[in-house]
Amino acid sequence: MTAQRRLIVRVLSAAQDHPDVEEVHRRASLIDPKISLATVYRTLRLFQDKNILERHDFGNGRSRFEPETPLHHDHLIDNTTGTVIEFHSDEIEKLQKRIAKKMGFRLIGHRLELYGVPLAEADGSPN
Ligand SMILES: [Zn+2]
Repeated sequence: MTAQRRLIVRVLSAAQDHPDVEEVHRRASLIDPKISLATVYRTLRLFQDKNILERHDFGNGRSRFEPETPLHHDHLIDNTTGTVIEFHSDEIEKLQKRIAKKMGFRLIGHRLELYGVPLAEADGSPN
């Protein structure tokens, strides 16, 4: 693996925030100013093909990336800030399996993204 690829791996495994290509490039540039955006694009594509990287589209047309994790999780996107919050719900996992089974399928994967705005603290409404 080339030094630049190793650097991109390092940036991605340190990231907790599902960065987009430009952000991965910006962080990599801090360590190696010679790394090009094209290299970052190419490397992220390669990592996706090798299934070591997951690409998300959280609704604004920008691909965001995170390393494949052994533990499955879903995402809640705060529409006011774009912050991505990870969560896991046994209830949702079970429900999805049940729905697939009812339709004659064994579930092998899913993607779930919730989009929301923070509840107003003084609002007090249940939803
Ligand atoms: Zn995630």
